[in-house]
Amino acid sequence: MSLVFENATLVDSLPKATSFFDAVSTVSQSSSSLSLLETYWAAWYHYMQNDVLATGLLFFLVHEVTYFGRSLPWYIIEKIPYFNKWKLQAEKTVSDKEQWECLKNLFISHFLVEAIPLWSFHPLAQKLGISITVPFPSWKTTVWQICLFFVLEDFQHYWTHRLMHYGPFYKYIHKQHHRYAAPFGVAAEYAHPIETMSLGFGTLGIPIIYVYYTRNLHLYTLSCWIILRLFQAVDAHSGYDFPWSLHHFLPFWSGADHHDMHHQYFVGNYASSFRWWDYFMDTEGGPEAKHAREERMKLKAEKLAKKTK
Ligand SMILES: [Zn+2]
Ligand SMILES: [Zn+2]
Repeated sequence: MSLVFENATLVDSLPKATSFFDAVSTVSQSSSSLSLLETYWAAWYHYMQNDVLATGLLFFLVHEVTYFGRSLPWYIIEKIPYFNKWKLQAEKTVSDKEQWECLKNLFISHFLVEAIPLWSFHPLAQKLGISITVPFPSWKTTVWQICLFFVLEDFQHYWTHRLMHYGPFYKYIHKQHHRYAAPFGVAAEYAHPIETMSLGFGTLGIPIIYVYYTRNLHLYTLSCWIILRLFQAVDAHSGYDFPWSLHHFLPFWSGADHHDMHHQYFVGNYASSFRWWDYFMDTEGGPEAKHAREERMKLKAEKLAKKTK
């Protein structure tokens, strides 16, 4: 029996569905006030008749479809010379063989490292009070919780990433992610298993801590957050900066040019989604930022020299 409906008697009264679409029509007939998305959500849990399996499979599919679905357009764009004028490191190309090597590694990571926490997530979600019921929370709640997760993940990412560039952490863990100096979409999750777990903590661990204290989170919100975070990560590795890219409209959004520079120069631009941590901690990457930093240091030294004269 699924807990997707708060009203348990409603679940008992619903006939078992023979197919997913049969479940959709059963749910829409019994609860006409639900939106289309809520109907599909409830029908999924009703059809599966096993919430642990339903959440596990849902998360697995959301991850695979979003990650590879978002990476595919970047692979196609790479093949079309017209888009070259917006490529950040236009002189560098990645062969299909290299991309295939990256993909093979990702499949291992997705099926072994990431699949276990995803498949076993439902019992933990239940314990923490993450809701799966319909109707969903208001869109305002969903939006501000996702914004909060973006800000907190960016903070966690910035400091963990800086640590990853320190001596042995870089040598034994983070170096793998830096294999590609000119990144491409699908390389976003190409990383050592320890780094994959650390990235997973930012994406799943932060909402877990949040719901532990607030007891207010819906699995639907969590799914939307995961989708948007995957979009951010794949796009940051795309290697393209278009005039219509988000950071041209939201100047504090990091985007591809921010992270591309990190891969190109190996230092600076450590944050994931926003530019503010690198700005305030003076760790902006690239030759321009380096030059500005040197100028500032020179000015400071001159001032100090004048004072001590
Ligand atoms: Zn790095
Ligand atoms: Zn990267």
